[in-house]
Amino acid sequence: MEPIQLVDLKNQYLKIKDEIDAKVIEILESTRYIGGPEVTGFQDELQEYFKVKHIIPCANGTDALQIALMSQDLQPGDEVITPSFTYISTTEVVSLLGLVPIFADVKPDTFNIDIDDLRKKITPNTKAIIPVHLYGQCADMDPIMELASEYNLPVIEDTAQAIGAEYTHADGRVSKAGTIGQIGTTSFFPSKNLGGFGDGGALMTNDDEIAAKLRLVANHGQSRRYYHDVIGVNSRLDAIQAGILRIKLRHLDEYIKARQWAANEYNKAFSSADNITTPFVAKNTTHVYHQYTLKLTGVDREELMQHLAHNGIPSNIYYPLANHKQEAFTADFGNTSLPITEQLSKEVLSLPIHTELSQEQINHITSHILKF
Ligand SMILES: *Cc1c(COP(=O)(O)O)cnc(C)c1O
Repeated sequence: MEPIQLVDLKNQYLKIKDEIDAKVIEILESTRYIGGPEVTGFQDELQEYFKVKHIIPCANGTDALQIALMSQDLQPGDEVITPSFTYISTTEVVSLLGLVPIFADVKPDTFNIDIDDLRKKITPNTKAIIPVHLYGQCADMDPIMELASEYNLPVIEDTAQAIGAEYTHADGRVSKAGTIGQIGTTSFFPSKNLGGFGDGGALMTNDDEIAAKLRLVANHGQSRRYYHDVIGVNSRLDAIQAGILRIKLRHLDEYIKARQWAANEYNKAFSSADNITTPFVAKNTTHVYHQYTLKLTGVDREELMQHLAHNGIPSNIYYPLANHKQEAFTADFGNTSLPITEQLSKEVLSLPIHTELSQEQINHITSHILKF
């Protein structure tokens, strides 16, 4: 059996090595390292994949969130509501721009933002909402969009973990995660479901005006060269990443299926284990399993992780400390209480999930967990 890894990028690469290597050499020889046909080609192909009007590539998923907020004419002190149970990127950019993150709790089953708590957190200072499609399934977007339009708030979907996930609206329409709010953001960090060989990210929108603003902000605020209309940032997807991502995008649906197969195998194995709750998938969304995350009750999580490590099985906790508990934020958020988020931080455990898992590896993992 091959050694088990949390994410196996090597074997995934080897399957498309010839094509990737040829593309990288072609780009090296072209000397078009910034911009050019690979970047515009990837942009067009990703637009088609998402069925969205505009894709704006950028340097990484954190930049994408920052650029999205910078496009919204927000003032220092304005409040942005996000979950606390997410990667730091989602909330870090809010603070970085002098805005105030207001944390909403999540649902104990889907790990995604709780619409009732979201509603309670809205004040006259609220200026945007950032739902996160955590671990790979969509937050419940219909009620979020309804609430947002009631208060006239833009919605920025953090889709870094859910590229390719689909949400079925109440009226039966199906949308890709990231294309429902005013702006969607995503990441091509190597371990993401569509990962480059370095950093990368993108924004998406169906609104022409917002798209123009996002492009402006991502490109030093310049509408034409050396004329700067607003203060922007320098955030580009480079041509080598774009070239690699074009190839990998053609495999994305097959990658998602491989993750879903592995998740299903895990689910079957754990179906009769009382102290393990396998991922709950809401009816109106697919799950693309960026993470396969269990909830453990009455199990010593640290001991289990050590037992697994001794048997060659890596595991990880996403996230052991919620954002509102982070040192960086405590000055402002010492009084915030998010009971579900705090409980989940103690209970969750993520298992190896990627496109290259074999039945034998899954059996090895599940049998060691069940034995423990
Ligand atoms: C990975 C991730 C990001 C940031 O992506 P980078 O490309 O690493 O900057 C943002 N939000 C979430 C939820 C993520 O998982």
